[in-house]
Amino acid sequence: MPRIPFNRPYRFDDEETNVLESLRSGSLCGNKSFGVRVAELLESKYDIQNVFLTPSCSAAMEMGALLANILPGDEVILPSYTFSSTANAVVLRGATPVFCEVAPDTMNIDVSLVEGLITSRTRMILPIDYAGIPCAIDRIMTIAERHGLAVMQDAAQSIHTMLQKRATGSIAPLVAFSFHETKNVSCGEGGALCVNEETLVERARYAQEKGTDRSMVLSGLKDKYTWVAPGSSYLLSDILAAVLLSQLQNVEFVVEQRSRVVQAYRALLAPYEAAGALHLPVVPHGVTTNNHAMFVILDSVGRRETFLEELRKWDIHAYVGYSPLHSSPFGQTFGYRPEDLPVTQSAAARLVRLPLYTALAADGLPYSLDGIGGVLRKIYGF
Ligand SMILES: *Cc1c(COP(=O)(O)O)cnc(C)c1O
Repeated sequence: MPRIPFNRPYRFDDEETNVLESLRSGSLCGNKSFGVRVAELLESKYDIQNVFLTPSCSAAMEMGALLANILPGDEVILPSYTFSSTANAVVLRGATPVFCEVAPDTMNIDVSLVEGLITSRTRMILPIDYAGIPCAIDRIMTIAERHGLAVMQDAAQSIHTMLQKRATGSIAPLVAFSFHETKNVSCGEGGALCVNEETLVERARYAQEKGTDRSMVLSGLKDKYTWVAPGSSYLLSDILAAVLLSQLQNVEFVVEQRSRVVQAYRALLAPYEAAGALHLPVVPHGVTTNNHAMFVILDSVGRRETFLEELRKWDIHAYVGYSPLHSSPFGQTFGYRPEDLPVTQSAAARLVRLPLYTALAADGLPYSLDGIGGVLRKIYGF
């Protein structure tokens, strides 16, 4: 284990008690005791209409793309700066990803360029909330409405982020969260699809349960279930939901601890930003972020390599972030060349994500600050 790893999952004491309770309940499949409690907690806490717990955020987005009826030949607009899962969700339905530039101040989709990418084949806009800072979802939904498009938000990183007084999961018609162990709130592998549009809820119940109306049997509306729609197995086991319940009940602590780390990093880095040596993420007005990640964009590709190498000597593990999808091997098969999205390509090549995990605030932060500060002084001479 490195002295300062990039990520370290945080465990809460009552996770073990919950898991035992789930195991002893005798029913470990999806939408059982803990699953129902987690979904209800998410719905009431964040004002989400319907939460479907899934095996991952990737699965949640695949389910969302199915509900949005994305078909072969459709085009879906998404940022190039994202994880492969965002694009896979629509590529698996035979759709074509149309990659948009990001704005380097947040690394979220550059909304001013979205309308220019819309064609007669466009069916959906699929933005993400990078590092826990939300995309401009209201502006995206206005554009979508004007052109009759669906919207799904990849909120894998932004649970508990607030825009004014609204939570990320409550705004777009379809929103996907991740509970992977690299995220703020985690059960190892897990996710959720938030369905905020009433007309999609019934189909979501079918889609989650292998295309059957089993949910009607469970709620006593029918006595035998049958195949009624396309679907898959988009369910989270009750054992994992038991872990997730405890994690969610502690989300305020998680966000508070991460906020201490982010504030300390920002204070350390501010003089370098003032001198033009690097850029820090901008949190838009009215946003309360969950402090999922902290990134820095350095002023040259070479200095990024030096920065990462020097940090390794301190046994501090920083990370380069995403390789843009449009210039990845599979992305290029859709006809893209790296230079097609120069803003994304340039920012991604200079971006560093600093170590950030919940336990860092209490254990290791002074060392991490010493190391990062020492390396910056060595590179920039002040
Ligand atoms: C983590 C992440 C995913 C994938 O989440 P899983 O739960 O592992 O499927 C998708 N999109 C973004 C933006 C992510 O950060």
